[in-house]
Amino acid sequence: MRVRRVDTFHLRAPLQQPFSFSQFSYSLREAMLVRVSTEDGLAGWGEAYGPAAVTATIVREFLGPLVKGRDPRAIESLWESLFARSIDYGQKGVMLAAISALDIACWDLKAQDAGTPLYRLLGADALESIECYWTGFYFGGQEALETRWEREARECLDSGFRAVKMKVGQGVARDAELVAALRSFVGRKVKLSIDANHAYTPTEAIDLARRVEGYGIHWFEEPVSPLDPQAYLEVKARTNIPLAGGECEYTRFGFDNWFRSRAIDYAQPDICACGGITEGMKIAALASLAGIHVTPHAWGSAVGQAAALHFYAARPRQPFTLTPETKLIECDRTENPFRTAIVQSPIELSRGRWHLPSAPGLGIEVKPDEFGPYLVDRGN
Ligand SMILES: [Mg+2]
Repeated sequence: MRVRRVDTFHLRAPLQQPFSFSQFSYSLREAMLVRVSTEDGLAGWGEAYGPAAVTATIVREFLGPLVKGRDPRAIESLWESLFARSIDYGQKGVMLAAISALDIACWDLKAQDAGTPLYRLLGADALESIECYWTGFYFGGQEALETRWEREARECLDSGFRAVKMKVGQGVARDAELVAALRSFVGRKVKLSIDANHAYTPTEAIDLARRVEGYGIHWFEEPVSPLDPQAYLEVKARTNIPLAGGECEYTRFGFDNWFRSRAIDYAQPDICACGGITEGMKIAALASLAGIHVTPHAWGSAVGQAAALHFYAARPRQPFTLTPETKLIECDRTENPFRTAIVQSPIELSRGRWHLPSAPGLGIEVKPDEFGPYLVDRGN
């Protein structure tokens, strides 16, 4: 099996209702999908997280040509050659996101070639479904947030979710009000996590953590700078809320320091950014040395979502116990047509659970014919 061509697809969709979080506002969603086609007619799909025009250029102009002619099933050596070729310019960020997209596409091909769903190829036992948490409760809009969030909470509970994540980062006092409000909307039994997207100093994050500890917070995500494990340790020493982070970190080399210092309780590599499934498995192996949970950040199209799900399905909980905490994976519920409109068979979501696909590969059947209305640029 040899790679015949590599195509990139930059997709864009304006949002009906723009929304924001502590760092910026979204008025559109974008996706950068990669298709790796083989000489014998198979096509594997991958996705890069981050600025789509940039990652598309990296794949089209730099990394894609290095993949042509290679056996896509020889993923370990392929990954190392891409990383070695780019390490002088980009050990983190968009370069790794571009490698991730190619890596995911190669895993899709390898599983298709083996005739098995990807999560099975990655070593998982047969599974039916995995519980997920609702990522939503963003800022923005004219309406009072409490009014909108109460409606969103009802939708969330009605559709069977029992774990949610809300945004914080609007100032400690306002955040504390909103945590209290959302807890009252969802009740005491629902797992409630908060995500500041690194909006705070350690002092502010500690203040917020202490104000909301009584509301049973499942984890506090990105309380402080993603560049500063020491700041996490300062927060961790002053609260009993577990800390989560890692969506802005890349490769085993980047995560190593976080695990050695025990700065986080939940590691959240994004499979479309951290280096793909190949690197995600190495990050998870390092996390297991420190007894740290890994639960991937996932905020992309159906392709990225499927990659995260297959990866996560194959990760044993660390450390082992007969009575483990439920595995929880992210389920972005913000507006995004690319979760459904561009695939034949989106991964089934029901009663707050992802149902693992049984078709070979990623199991979602991407439909490039449906890209038309969204296509900004098609490169090859
Ligand atoms: Mg986050």
